[in-house]
Amino acid sequence: MTPVIEDRLLDLLACPRCGGELGPGEHSLTCFSCGTSFEVRGGIPVLMPEGIDLEHLAEEEKLGEIMTGEPASEKDAVSEEQWKLSKREYWDFVRERISAGKTIVNIGCGVDTSFLELAEGNTLIAFDLMRSLLEKLRDDHGSRFNVTGAVQSLPFRDDAFDAICCIDLIHHEPDRLTAIFGSFARILAPGGILFLEDINAWGLTQFWKSKMMPRRLHGALREGWHRMKGSRHRPAPYEFPTDVFGSMRMLEKTGFTDIEAVPLKSYPNTGRTGLSLYGKLSSSDRVQRYHNFHYMITAKKPEST
Ligand SMILES: [Zn+2]
Repeated sequence: MTPVIEDRLLDLLACPRCGGELGPGEHSLTCFSCGTSFEVRGGIPVLMPEGIDLEHLAEEEKLGEIMTGEPASEKDAVSEEQWKLSKREYWDFVRERISAGKTIVNIGCGVDTSFLELAEGNTLIAFDLMRSLLEKLRDDHGSRFNVTGAVQSLPFRDDAFDAICCIDLIHHEPDRLTAIFGSFARILAPGGILFLEDINAWGLTQFWKSKMMPRRLHGALREGWHRMKGSRHRPAPYEFPTDVFGSMRMLEKTGFTDIEAVPLKSYPNTGRTGLSLYGKLSSSDRVQRYHNFHYMITAKKPEST
């Protein structure tokens, strides 16, 4: 009988409900501690915590569909170029800092194929809420280890990873950052590195909304605006850009060290005017680190805690 999943992957997993060890069955994994069984389909374990918000999940699925479409306008095309550049900058930075033989998880990976470029000599785990995206990654791009689950309850063992990549995920859970950073610290091995990217509340073209306006008002205006424009990247109501300084402070409180914001040249989600404004101001190192559309932070889990 072929195992339901490879041992290399099984060694990294833990029960999302109680943290217990998982044992393989014919089509499932079962927790030795709480007895819960989790389905495995096509080698992809579905390790969902209890009481996952289904409405939230449906929003995410809609978002996943939108993001696979074609750009509609010139502004979208400009923005799309910058999204690509942003990804390139992120992954180039990660690649330079990762030596071979590492175990790396991409949390909220979507269908990001750039991650898979790190495959040679490393063990890569693609992790997402939506199984359909992981299946695409597996079938079209050869992703070997894939896990479905929720960031609220990461189904991985303590100290499992040398690096965590996480792009544009945490603004989906802006009120749970302390818990999320805590679980990142838990699954990182001592000396492990976090490469965090998120939508920046201090971004040059958005801080007047995301920092100066009450959050509910911003949410309502944003919803109306995107509806009127028929935008492609329409944010779900619970999403909110996160604060680069706040995230850095919170990571420090969580026990991370060597926390740094990385300078970035890309500025997605704006047209030519916004882009040219960023171009003019981004000769300042401070603007590139703290007032970009995305901020990127690296942080290290201390060697001994
Ligand atoms: Zn359990």
